[in-house]
Amino acid sequence: MPRRCTVCAHLQRQDIDELLVSGTPYRSVAKRFGLSESAVYRHKTEHLPAHLSKAKEAEEAARADDLLDQVRHLQTHALDILERAEKSGDLRTALAAISQARGNLELLGKLAGQLDERPVVNLNISPQWLELRAVIVGALESHPAAHTAVLRALESVGNG
Ligand SMILES: [Zn+2]
Repeated sequence: MPRRCTVCAHLQRQDIDELLVSGTPYRSVAKRFGLSESAVYRHKTEHLPAHLSKAKEAEEAARADDLLDQVRHLQTHALDILERAEKSGDLRTALAAISQARGNLELLGKLAGQLDERPVVNLNISPQWLELRAVIVGALESHPAAHTAVLRALESVGNG
């Protein structure tokens, strides 16, 4: 029957692991925490690698989350620019913003790992919708009244 590891069960396990990782001899670690040398040695060779890989996974997940946040932030900016460009009739900038937004969407999808699993259901961030919207709005440039009416209608759809 395997014995319970006194190091794993230790309240300061994280500190102990850190010391071992930074190269502190297991003998001094054992002394410092009032543990047996054999327990610290066994922990270092048998349990520490698993703890480390778990810590690394958590760190990578956190980094992916951070990246996701950054892309979301970029996407908000791109959509904001798109909206302003549309309002001022700057179609060049609108198109650039659309292509930026589409790139962000692809990246978001990849990062979230759901590009193939789930279709984008939010109409406001669908690239097809953004493209269509720019085409519609662009086509009405020379008809100010219709342009305004359509923009207003599109906005109410977007908010609903
Ligand atoms: Zn252990």
